Amino acid sequence: MINDILKTFSIREQNPGASDGIDFMPGSGDRITVWSPVDGQTIATVQTVTRTAYDAVISRAESAFLYWRTVPAPRRGEIVRQIGEALRIYKDDLGKLVSYEMGKSLQEGRGEVQEMIDICDFAVGLSRQLYGLSMHSERPCHRMYEQWHPLGIVGIISAFNFPVAVWSWNAMIALVCGNVCVWKPSEKTPLSAQACFRILSEVFKRNDLPGGLCNLVQGGKDPGAWMAGDPRVALVSATGSARMGKAVNTAVAARLGKCLLELGGNNAIIVSKDADLDMTLMGAVFGAVGTAGQRCTTTRRLIIHESVFDRFTEKLKGAYAQLKIGNPLEAQNHVGPLIDKDAVAHYTNALDTIKKEGGTFIVDGGVLEGAAYASGCYVKPCIAKVENRFSIVQTETFAPILYVMQYREIEEAIAMQNDVPQGLSSAIMTLNLREAELFLSAAGSDCGIANVNIGTSGAEIGGAFGGEKETGGGRESGSDAWKAYMRRQTNTINYGRDLPLAQGIEFNI
Ligand code: NAD
Repeated sequence: MINDILKTFSIREQNPGASDGIDFMPGSGDRITVWSPVDGQTIATVQTVTRTAYDAVISRAESAFLYWRTVPAPRRGEIVRQIGEALRIYKDDLGKLVSYEMGKSLQEGRGEVQEMIDICDFAVGLSRQLYGLSMHSERPCHRMYEQWHPLGIVGIISAFNFPVAVWSWNAMIALVCGNVCVWKPSEKTPLSAQACFRILSEVFKRNDLPGGLCNLVQGGKDPGAWMAGDPRVALVSATGSARMGKAVNTAVAARLGKCLLELGGNNAIIVSKDADLDMTLMGAVFGAVGTAGQRCTTTRRLIIHESVFDRFTEKLKGAYAQLKIGNPLEAQNHVGPLIDKDAVAHYTNALDTIKKEGGTFIVDGGVLEGAAYASGCYVKPCIAKVENRFSIVQTETFAPILYVMQYREIEEAIAMQNDVPQGLSSAIMTLNLREAELFLSAAGSDCGIANVNIGTSGAEIGGAFGGEKETGGGRESGSDAWKAYMRRQTNTINYGRDLPLAQGIEFNI
């Protein structure tokens, strides 16, 4: 199966110096060996970018920007519409490649490509709606308004867990806004990125677009760090761990550049005594074990009212006993592998720390062995009873470990939900209007996403996506997140015969 897909995307090795609007790593850096956590097989090797080649990519992107910024936004939208159409054609193949390279279920792999198609559709509409305001001037015969211009080069650094969707969230919006893009995907999922560029390449060629509009630089943290320190990169949009976000933010701030950060989460669901427990079970289990706990919005904590704690944890135990763990390309399996053996080590270390800190397991964890788990990356989703203050609970462990804890008063539950360094996604399950509204009020959740009777994971592209505190404060995707990809210019025009000064200041010469 995988060989056919690699052929579809012409993936054998890199394509140096392609001049069709796409630059596939025109350098001679070290090679990354790409390995699937599904079965432990080596898939391909990918060449990383050198500093010299990176500089050449940036120069080409600078030239491409001079052209692209003059193309009318709706015309830019037409190109993005065609990218969406191409993605529809390749949805199945790209979804399979994402699933095999990253280890998420086939449904989630396809879902990721659907999200790319959705953001293309959104961006096409947006290309006719990059609105600025007009204001009333305090001076006679003056008109004042604001308009939005593109920034230039947008650098996109993405994480392994959404190998393609996060790029499209950034790139499709950035493109309709008139920017050009340089993408540094995760070194753990470079092939999915390469496949996306094959698809783009067809569209760009068909439209006779110049090279350098969208660029791909492969490698580990180095190319990401180069972009962060490079004043030619107007905006660095970085998705990944808080550790990476702090390094990128520091480098971008040192040159007073723009940064958009989408970092880790530590997401909780409050389970009220007035919750619909069947619905809660569905939301909590999918949120905790989907993508093997490797979503930024994964449900990591359940804060459960003491009166329903025993009943609900029994339901959880029953549901976890039904979970099928195995090859994510097989539809009957609910949970696939972790991304690699380092992730497995983080998981087992976390299990040890939970015990050391005084936590107890309601559902035991462990690493699975045997022929079906030959990659060594399959682990058991587990549930631990803990205290919110434990250092391990305050940390995002990117694995299917669910923490449960009890509360008595709703205010206490909200305080526990907020009392972590991260602030991405949050939810309350309740049929009680007062509790729900309190949770959504200024005295409620401090997260960028707050849901009622929906779990923490699985956001739609129409809303602005992102979070507060250590999650980084950035917003991507829908609503007016596009404003981060443009610069605002305020224009005042005097059509009178006098030159009155603002604030009534007199200046006579
Ligand atoms: P990671 O931080 O290890 O790597 C992310 C990307 O940053 C990779 O491309 C990596 O090469 C690059 N990178 C690492 N160090 C860098 C540095 N110093 N300078 C520049 N680039 C650097 O993260 P990961 O393990 O790939 O992904 C998991 C993390 O991503 C989790 O914390 C998860 O919550 C987070 N995430 C957040 C969102 C969101 O939208 N908030 C979405 C997906 C993933």
